[in-house]
Amino acid sequence: MTAINSLCVYCGSQVGNSPGHAEAAHRLGVMMAERDIVLVYGGGKIGVMGILADAVIDAGGRVIGIIPNHLQDSEVGHPGVSELLIVDSMHTRKRKMFELSDGFVTLPGGLGTLDETFEIITWKQLGLHDKPIIIVDVDGYWRPLLDLVQGIIANGYARPGVVDLFEVVPSVEGVFEALEAIPAPRIAARPERI
Ligand code: AMP
Repeated sequence: MTAINSLCVYCGSQVGNSPGHAEAAHRLGVMMAERDIVLVYGGGKIGVMGILADAVIDAGGRVIGIIPNHLQDSEVGHPGVSELLIVDSMHTRKRKMFELSDGFVTLPGGLGTLDETFEIITWKQLGLHDKPIIIVDVDGYWRPLLDLVQGIIANGYARPGVVDLFEVVPSVEGVFEALEAIPAPRIAARPERI
């Protein structure tokens, strides 16, 4: 099993239309705090991101937010986090989130969430790390994306094995079950190549 002290969570800077998504973010935050798992995230106080961070903070957990200075206004840096790192670019933000995290979780979100999730999956595909990546398919939200991946495989643009680069779970409770079942990384992360 992978020792998980910190999890990076990718999720929307908006709340979306499904109340179940906000509830899932809240539950995940509480469960992380209960397990002393540090939340690493994009640092905003809006959307699903904000709900998640609030839940961890309210439950007594630790939160590290990483936000580029140009997004401080639009995503509104969360004032309540344990540490808010203000960085110079999107790239520095993603790299720092990667370095500080033992694993990655994707909740519902938009294009930024997709970008972050696929970047971390493709870094794993390139052998730059072997950390767990878990997609939480809340209410089937990510089903079209998973179908797209199957279509990419069927069309010969990815090996069938790419589906082993990440786990898909139906609920936030499944995140912790999946983490227990995933073996420790077999290779050291190579942040200098990112
Ligand atoms: P979204 O899912 O679009 O609401 O965005 C979720 C998070 O992803 C926000 O913190 C965005 O700042 C971030 N984000 C948006 N676009 C990008 C991008 N191209 N690369 C990295 N992060 C992004």
